[in-house]
Amino acid sequence: MGVVSNLVVGLLFNVLLIYAVPLSTVNSIHLPSIGRFWHISDLHLDPSYHVTDDHTKVCFSSKGVPASNPGLFGDFMCDSPYQLILSAFQHMKQVAPQPEFMIWTGDSPPHVPAGELSTDVVIQVISNMTQTIREFFPDMLVYPALGNHDYWPQDQLPTSTNDIYQAAAKLWEPWLKPEALVTLREGGFYSQMVQPKLRLISLNTILYYSPNEVTVNMSDPAGQFRWLQDTLEASAQSMEKVIVIAHVPVGYLPFARNTTAVREAYNERLVKIFRDYSDIISGHFYGHTHRDSIMVLQDQQGEPVNSLFVTPAVTPIKSAEEPYSNNPAFRMYHYDPQDYRLLDIWQYYLNLTEANQEKRSDWKLEYVMTEAFGLKDIQPDSLFKLVLSFKMQQSKAFQKYFSHFMVSYDDTIVCDGACKLTQVCAVQSLDHASYSKCIEKGH
Ligand SMILES: [Zn+2]
Ligand SMILES: [Zn+2]
Repeated sequence: MGVVSNLVVGLLFNVLLIYAVPLSTVNSIHLPSIGRFWHISDLHLDPSYHVTDDHTKVCFSSKGVPASNPGLFGDFMCDSPYQLILSAFQHMKQVAPQPEFMIWTGDSPPHVPAGELSTDVVIQVISNMTQTIREFFPDMLVYPALGNHDYWPQDQLPTSTNDIYQAAAKLWEPWLKPEALVTLREGGFYSQMVQPKLRLISLNTILYYSPNEVTVNMSDPAGQFRWLQDTLEASAQSMEKVIVIAHVPVGYLPFARNTTAVREAYNERLVKIFRDYSDIISGHFYGHTHRDSIMVLQDQQGEPVNSLFVTPAVTPIKSAEEPYSNNPAFRMYHYDPQDYRLLDIWQYYLNLTEANQEKRSDWKLEYVMTEAFGLKDIQPDSLFKLVLSFKMQQSKAFQKYFSHFMVSYDDTIVCDGACKLTQVCAVQSLDHASYSKCIEKGH
């Protein structure tokens, strides 16, 4: 009888729904066709930012270099004013107040000399950013990864517990489970189930980052390789899918020839592990370069097996020597909630120059990945076809990709010849052997 009455109530409920709301909404209630999550990175709050007539005094992060065109929402020579960060979260909340979750790939403190910061200040900045996110999205789960600036002195993240890992674990308690907090406190990494049969692995790739002197000559800093291998193996046994997040990306830098962001030996090891478990990894999500780029991991036979994404930064900062920067940015991923296949990217940005002129932050959609490049989805096969199209002379697709790389900072800057080769090889070759071959062949 219970079953029957439940059925009746269920039917009644359906009928009421059908009359009350349009059919498309009914479908989305019963069978959500897409899942969505936010990705933000490299907020780099500069609390000293203020608009003043002396342009050398606008922000500590410009290190005495005059700000270029300072306004309410920032300057290309400076890290983010709080106002810029607030405007980003305000817009995210307008676009999607209840996405499935958010990933946040680190770097909260500003680019200032070590003497301007301390362990306490770094913790305060991370705490401030954590509270800000929680105020905007009180019910959303957020999965953070530590960045090279989320430590003092910067880049020197240790292989065992310390004040900053402990503080992060305390601050992120509302989002993470006790098991995740244990490894976060010890080594700055963790894993957690984020949806049924979907596990997130947050790696501390700063342990592998070239400037980290603490880990020089270590074969497995903080035992993270071992842990990663074991975690992926357990996921494979349990038929889970996995998303990998970290601050410093694996692979080669798209703007510097022959340069991996992590030490080369560590890079080889990461690539091998990711290849071994590519069939359970849905995607990789990184930050750190501040620019928008993709990578396609190929197996030993050259088959595309994984899609990797580097999200552009919220901070617009560039150094004095750099010819270009990025507009402030954040993005949303769409995925299939049945099998966790990645479907699309919705990339948002703020035209900083315009926002300062109009004293108004008009965040806009910069592009939708599948529409911008005529792709079916953002699976490895689709991205691999895209890379092939980049290789053509005068490729319009590559021009668009490079404009997105700078978050539409300046469409007149052209990347061809050596610049384009470095970009294209970084997209398709993540290990030393295939990268050298790519550079040698010239495509
Ligand atoms: Zn950064
Ligand atoms: Zn970084």
